[in-house]
Amino acid sequence: MFDSLVRFVRDQYGTNDFIPLHAPVFSGNEQKYVAETIESTFVSSVGAFVDRFEHDMQAYTGSPRAVATVNGTAALHIALMLAGVKPGDLVITQSLTFVATCNAIAYCGAEPVFVDVDRDTLGLSPVALEAWLEAEAYVDADGHCRLKRDERVLRACLPMHTFGHPVALDALLDVSKRWGLALVEDAAESLGSTYKGRHTGTFGLIGTLSFNGNKVITTGGGGMLLTSEALGARAKYLTTTAKQPHPYEFVHSEIGYNYRLPNINAALGCAQLEQLETFLAAKRDLAMGYADELAGGDLQFVFEPEGCRSNYWLNAVACQDLAQRDALLKATNERGVMTRPIWTLMNRLPAYQHCLKGDLSTAEWLEARIVNLPSSVPPLGCT
Ligand SMILES: *Cc1c(COP(=O)(O)O)cnc(C)c1O
Repeated sequence: MFDSLVRFVRDQYGTNDFIPLHAPVFSGNEQKYVAETIESTFVSSVGAFVDRFEHDMQAYTGSPRAVATVNGTAALHIALMLAGVKPGDLVITQSLTFVATCNAIAYCGAEPVFVDVDRDTLGLSPVALEAWLEAEAYVDADGHCRLKRDERVLRACLPMHTFGHPVALDALLDVSKRWGLALVEDAAESLGSTYKGRHTGTFGLIGTLSFNGNKVITTGGGGMLLTSEALGARAKYLTTTAKQPHPYEFVHSEIGYNYRLPNINAALGCAQLEQLETFLAAKRDLAMGYADELAGGDLQFVFEPEGCRSNYWLNAVACQDLAQRDALLKATNERGVMTRPIWTLMNRLPAYQHCLKGDLSTAEWLEARIVNLPSSVPPLGCT
């Protein structure tokens, strides 16, 4: 079973060895830039590569300000704080996501509310969002969105661009605005993805990126906030221990965080970002290759939504049912071709099973069927 698919994957990577889901590729200035940080001794919390990485990312995404952080989860934590999320608040998000999305909400002392996703984007559904709000919430005289049952404040809406496929941003922005919700984008998986020509993570109040080892580009570990000049300045301050600028005195005006990205990691990031467009082109070729290979079969390839450019971070297929999903996972993993089911829905995890939720039938449908296929940038000269 799935012999042709396994053969196709092996041809892409030109190897009979184990094929991981997503491995980083270091084919540019990585060694050079990292060596520069070591030679200069500036490997840690200060150094020119951090500023350069932030500027390069501003230029790439078109965001007025980019602030580097130690990882994507830390970036999300600060983003939600800046969106005004406080203990006791609620934040609406999708149950079909990686756990970091919900953990960042919990770090603020807030709780997630789970709303369904759309089949075409795999991300938060504006229609499900509006329906849930109509049934459960109202906007008070101060413009705050509150839960009808106990008056708790719904502070923000946090969609996630699943596997790099952009969510329906125009509609989500519209619903969020009308209901007094701050829109924060978890763009951890979507560096390089655009919605109507504009980079994901730049539509809401704040967007966040991740440069973990399995993402499109990596800094080892790292993340970034994309936002306005004003919020960016505040993000920089909070992520660098809330230290007041002074030539030598240590004055910290509030509880800050040590969420800085070390310079040695930023050096890796600068080198990786130089290659991003090459990686994206290779990943798109791979995705179209999968689509051709699977055309006419019963595994449905997941294409980028209309009007969007996806980075095709992780290629995905929808199986016919759970039995076929299990057979695909078994057949491929047994043969050293790593595939993986989509995440267990967040509302099933012990930490989040008590949280409020709407109808999640599309998320449940996808949970039973979606499988990720190997998606690393193939080595040059293969295929
Ligand atoms: C990778 C990821 C993050 C952040 O992860 P870090 O490992 O903390 O950089 C957040 N949300 C989603 C959806 C992710 O995939």
